Amino acid sequence: MKVLVMNAGSSSLKYQLIDMQSHAVIAKGLCEKVGFDGSFHSYELGKDEALATIPLADHHVAVKEVLSVLLNPNDGVIASLDEIAAIGHRVVHGGEFFTESVVISDAVIEKIVACTPLAPLHNPGALMGIEACKELMPNALQVAVFDTAFHQSMPAKAYRYPLPDALYEEHRIRKYGFHGTSHRYVSQRAAVLLERPLEELKLITCHLGNGCSLTAIEGGRSVDTTMGFTPLDGVMMGTRCGAIDPAIVTYLISELGMTVERVNEVMNRESGLLGISGLTNDLRDVRAAAEAGDPRAILAYEMYSNSVKKHIGQQVFTLAGVDAIVLTAGVGENCDRMRRMIFEGLEPLGITLDLEKNKGRGGERLISTEDSPVKVFVIPTNEELMIALDVDRLYQQQ
Ligand code: ADP
Repeated sequence: MKVLVMNAGSSSLKYQLIDMQSHAVIAKGLCEKVGFDGSFHSYELGKDEALATIPLADHHVAVKEVLSVLLNPNDGVIASLDEIAAIGHRVVHGGEFFTESVVISDAVIEKIVACTPLAPLHNPGALMGIEACKELMPNALQVAVFDTAFHQSMPAKAYRYPLPDALYEEHRIRKYGFHGTSHRYVSQRAAVLLERPLEELKLITCHLGNGCSLTAIEGGRSVDTTMGFTPLDGVMMGTRCGAIDPAIVTYLISELGMTVERVNEVMNRESGLLGISGLTNDLRDVRAAAEAGDPRAILAYEMYSNSVKKHIGQQVFTLAGVDAIVLTAGVGENCDRMRRMIFEGLEPLGITLDLEKNKGRGGERLISTEDSPVKVFVIPTNEELMIALDVDRLYQQQ
C-alpha cells in the first residue's frame, strides 16, 4: 500500500509518497509560490532530482502537477492513481476538537474551518490541499493529522492560563501546543531504543529546529509542552522570542508606538537567534561567528542553550523525574556544541553526556554515558512517516 503525505501551506505544498511495507519514500517534492509568479515544483523520484518552473495558479493545479509527475510514463513511480490508497494531510490546528488523527468527513472539515482563527496562516492552506485531493483522487481515503492533537491529553493545570475564566470558556484561550507529530514519533522511537514499554516511561522530547518546543511525556501522553496558544511561546527560537514578560507587548505599543502588526513581526520574525546575534537565524552561522569571537553571537548561543536548559528543568519537576531526554530536528540532531552546552553542569541531576558520542553523526543514537541515570538520545524526527503510519492504521480499520 502507498500513502501520500501532504503538507499544504498558504502558498506551498510539500509531499512524500511512502510505501507502507518498506516505509521507503518513493517520491517527494515541494511546490512553492503557489498562486504567485515564479512558482516551481522541485522533486525527487527515487534518486533522480528535478526542478520544473511551472505556473501553479492554486492548490488544485499544484496537486494536479504532482500527480502528473508521479504518473509520468517515462520516469513516474506509479502506473495508476488507484495505487495511492490513502492521503494524510498535516493540519496545524485541531483546537479542542481533535485528540487524534481522523478520517476526513464534511463534519471534520467544518471543525478545521472553525479552528482557522487559531491558525490563520496555516489551516486555510491545509483546507485547500484537502479540497484539491478530494476532487482529484475521490477514491482515496483522506486523513487529517493535527500538530495539536497529541497535546490534548494535557491536564487543565497545564493548559489553562491564569487569566479570567471567560477568556477560556468563551474564547478558548488556552495552551494548545504544537509539533505534536514530531514529539509523538520520537517518544515512540525512544521507547524502542530503551527496550521498555512507552506506558512506563517519563520522557522529555526537545524539537529544536527553526521553531522549538519541548514536551513532557508520561506513559506516552503529553502532560505539558512549551509552546502555548500559539507557536510563539516557550524556548527561544531561530527568529521567535519564546516566553517574554507579556507586559513588553503593551509597552511596545503604548510607549514605542508600534502597531499590533509590527509587534507581531518583531516577536515572530526579528527575535530569537537572529535578534540577539544581529546576524542570522541559522545556528550554523551563529556558531561560526561565536567561534570567531563575535560577542553577540556568543550571547545568542548562551541564551538559547540556557533557555532550553531552563525548560528541561521545569519539565523534570512536572514529571517528578525523567528516564530519557530526546533531542530532534535541525539543531537537536546536528549541533554537538549546543547539546553540550544544554547539558553542561547537570551531572548532579543524573544527566551525564558522553562527549565523544555527542560528537558522532547520523541516525538514532545514545549520547549519554552508559551509567548516566537519565539517558539522552538524538533521534531524527520523521513527521511524514508518523502521519503515514496513522493513515495506514485508519485505512486498515475501514
Ligand atoms: P524547521 O523547523 O524549519 O523544520 P529544521 O528542523 O530543518 O527546521 O532546523 C533548521 C535549523 O537547524 C537551521 O536553521 C539551523 O539553525 C539548524 N541546523 C541544521 N544543521 C545544523 C548544524 N550542523 N549545526 C547547527 N545547526 C544546524
